[in-house]
Amino acid sequence: MKEVIMEMERYADTNNVPIIDVESIKFIMKYIKLNNVKKVLEIGTAIGYSAILMANASLDVEITTIERDEKRYREAVKNIKKCSLDKRIEVVYNDALEVNLAGYKYDLIFIDAAKGSYIKFFEKFCHYLNPGGVIITDNLKFHGLVNNKASIKTKSLRGIVDRIERYIEFLNNNQDFITKFYDIGDGLSVSIRKNNEK
Ligand code: SAH
Ligand code: MG
Repeated sequence: MKEVIMEMERYADTNNVPIIDVESIKFIMKYIKLNNVKKVLEIGTAIGYSAILMANASLDVEITTIERDEKRYREAVKNIKKCSLDKRIEVVYNDALEVNLAGYKYDLIFIDAAKGSYIKFFEKFCHYLNPGGVIITDNLKFHGLVNNKASIKTKSLRGIVDRIERYIEFLNNNQDFITKFYDIGDGLSVSIRKNNEK
């Protein structure tokens, strides 16, 4: 297991796969343990790195993870098999915005895919949260570029940073959730649904 994880870290490095920062995944694993999380939905599998580590946080965690890139999807399935986690991690090969999850509910939803679609992901998937559920989002600092706009040279990068800023504003203004921002790794947000039930 440890060996497979190190191999994945090397693969990600060589192939420019943006896997999660160590401190961030540690934070999420701790959250899973402390809050007795059982069902996880992940948007953006890449090669299965974060999914495998989340499954390692606790023996009764089950994960559904969505990836739209075929090569990464195949790589993820292979890695998950190697770790014998294929009973607890299901990889869905599709665009997350196309996936139909009717009937499923999750305790934790981890958004870690195309940054331009964060608001869309949140609006779609918040309906699949269990009471007390949480949505965690990665890369809110976008490698330090959010908060350092003057240093951005290309229009497309500026576009992504604008979208992340809009997402942060969206979270701050969302009346149904309370969001805390954490300055760890590449920046994480933790959005907990307010208890509106009578
Ligand atoms: N969670 C992974 C890293 C994910 S990188 C880890 O930490 O190990 C982001 C991934 O999201 C990329 O592989 C990209 O192909 C995928 N992605 C981006 N937009 C997507 C979408 N709309 N639906 C599904 N996957 C998407
Ligand atoms: Mg990420």
